[in-house]
Amino acid sequence: GSMVFAWMAMGMTVLIPWLVGQAVNAVQDSDQTQLFWMVGAILVAAVLRLVLTVIRRIVAGRVSLAVEFDLRQEVYAHLMSLELGFFDRNQTGQLMSRATVDLQSIRFFLGYGLIFFSQSILTVLLAGVVMFVINPWLALIALAPAPLIVITALRYTRQSRPAMQEVAQRVAELTAQAEESVAGIRVVKAFAREDHQFERFQGAVDRLFDQSIRSTRIQAFFTPLIGALPQIGTALVLLVGGHEVLNGSLDLGQFTAFYTYMLMLAGPLRTVGMALGMGQRAIAAGNRLFEVLDREPRLTSRPDAIPLPEGGGAVSFDSVSLRYGPEAPEALLDIDLDVPAGSRLALVGPSGSGKTSLAALIARLYDPTEGEVSIDGTDLRDLEIPSLRHGIAYVSDDSFLFSDTIANNISYARADATPGEIERAARLAQASEFIEALPDGYETVVGERGLTLSGGQRQRVAIARALLANPRILILDDATSSLDATTEQQIRAGLAEAMAGRTTFVIGHRLSTISLADECVLMDEGRIIDRGTIAELTDRSSLFRELTGGSGDEPLFVPEDEEVLA
Ligand code: ADP
Ligand code: MG
Repeated sequence: GSMVFAWMAMGMTVLIPWLVGQAVNAVQDSDQTQLFWMVGAILVAAVLRLVLTVIRRIVAGRVSLAVEFDLRQEVYAHLMSLELGFFDRNQTGQLMSRATVDLQSIRFFLGYGLIFFSQSILTVLLAGVVMFVINPWLALIALAPAPLIVITALRYTRQSRPAMQEVAQRVAELTAQAEESVAGIRVVKAFAREDHQFERFQGAVDRLFDQSIRSTRIQAFFTPLIGALPQIGTALVLLVGGHEVLNGSLDLGQFTAFYTYMLMLAGPLRTVGMALGMGQRAIAAGNRLFEVLDREPRLTSRPDAIPLPEGGGAVSFDSVSLRYGPEAPEALLDIDLDVPAGSRLALVGPSGSGKTSLAALIARLYDPTEGEVSIDGTDLRDLEIPSLRHGIAYVSDDSFLFSDTIANNISYARADATPGEIERAARLAQASEFIEALPDGYETVVGERGLTLSGGQRQRVAIARALLANPRILILDDATSSLDATTEQQIRAGLAEAMAGRTTFVIGHRLSTISLADECVLMDEGRIIDRGTIAELTDRSSLFRELTGGSGDEPLFVPEDEEVLA
C-alpha cells in the first residue's frame, strides 16, 4: 500500500514539469486562460503530492514498525526455543545485538530504503518515458549516462555489502564486550580491573571505528558519484537542446520541461545510492538475524512424544555418555545408574567430575551422546519436554533469581500458587525469616539475578521455588553450598520433609547435606566409581573421605560464613 501511495505521489512529481512546460508555452503564446489553468493544475498536483506523501509515510511507518515488532518477537520466541547448548556457545551480547541493532537496520530499509528505492527507480522510468514522448532524440542523449550509473551502483553494492556485514559483526562484539563487563562488574571492581575492561572495550570501539570508516569511505565515494553522473546528461541536454531551441526545431516549453526533468532526476538518483546502501546494511543484518532464526532447535519433543506417564519418579541411566561438543572430551562416561522411585541419592565427587552434567541429563537439558536416560521406564526422548520438566524441580548451583518480587520468584514454577503455599515453601526452605524482615516482605523486588540478596538467601529462595513446584523428582545441585552450618542444619528438616515421597538427587559434599540421602554415588572424571551408604563409602574410599571432610558424622571444616566470600 505504501508503495502504491509512493508511486502516485511520484506520478504527481513527474506531472509537474510537464505542466510547467505547458505554462511556459502559454506565456509564449500569450494565452492567459491556458496559463491560469496550468498554474492551477500545478498547485493541485503539488497539494496532492503532499497528501499522498504524508499517507505514504504513515503507512510505511506502520508496516516497518510492525515488521520490526513481529521479527523481534519471533527472534525472542525462537531464542527461547533453542536448546541450552546453543547458549553455551553464543555470547549474550552477540544475540542482543542481533535482536536490536540488526533489526533496526531492517526496519530502516523497509520503512524508507525500499520505498525510496522503488519510488526513485519508477520516477526515473516514468520521467524517461515522458521525455521520450516529448523528444526521443533529446531523451536518448539525456539518458546516455544511465548504463554508467547502473554499473557504478552495482559496484557500490558489491563492495559495500561485505563491509556492512563486518560493521554489524563489530557492533555485536562491542555489545558483547559491554554486556560482559556489566554482568561481571563485581569481579571487575573486586580486582580493580576497570582500566583493563575499559581498554578491552576501547579495543572493540577502535575496531568498530576502523571498519565503519572503511565502509563510510566506500559510501562517501560511490553515493556522490551516482548522484553526479546524471549531470553529464544535464550538460548534454543543455548543449544539444539549447542548440535546437536556437535552431527553432524545439520549442521553449518542451525544452523547459525537459530541463526540469533532468534537474528532477538528480534527486531520485542520489536516493538510489542511499537506498542501495540501506539495502546492503539490511541484507547484512538480515543474514545475521536469520542465522539465529534458521537455527533449528536441536533438542525438541518428537511429534509422537507422550506426556510423562504416572509413576513414582524412578530414574535410570543406561550406558550414558555425554560430550558437550563434537570436539569436547567426555563429561560423562558409561554411566549406569538405577534410582528407585522415591529414593534419595547423593552425588559426591570432585568439581568437574560430572555431577551437574548428570543432573542436567535428568531434566533433559542436554541429550546424552550415547545411551539412554529414562524416567519410570520411558526414554526421556519419547516424552513431551514441558510435561517432563514439570515433573522435575531443579535447584541449579547458581540459584538464579529474576528481578521481580520474592513471591513471584518463588511461584515461578507454579504461577497459580496461593500466598499461603508460597509462605509454606519459604518456611521449609528456611527463607521465611529473612524474607519477612525485608522492607516489603514477599513483595520485595530483588535486583537483577537476585544480586541484592546474599548467596545463601538466594539459595534458600531457589530451594523454596523448587519445593513449591511439587515435583516428582527433586534435584538439589550444590543447593546449600552458600549456607552457614547453622542455617544448613535448620534447612535439613525442611528438606527432609520436602523430599518425602519424591525421588531426590542431592549434590554436595557436606556430610550433613548428603546424609539426607539413603545412598551415595561417588563420581570422578565423568564416571561412577563407587556406590554405597555414607558409612560404607567413608570406610572404603579415601577420595570420599577427602571430599566430605573425613570422620563420618560431622565435617572437619565448615567455613563460618561462606557468604562473606560471595
Ligand atoms: P561438576 O558439577 O561435578 O563440578 P560438571 O558436570 O559441571 O561437573 O562438569 C563436568 C565436565 O563437563 C567439566 O569438565 C566441565 O568443564 C564440562 N562442562 C560442564 N558444563 C559444560 C558446558 N555447558 N559446556 C561444555 N562443557 C561443560
Ligand atoms: Mg556442578
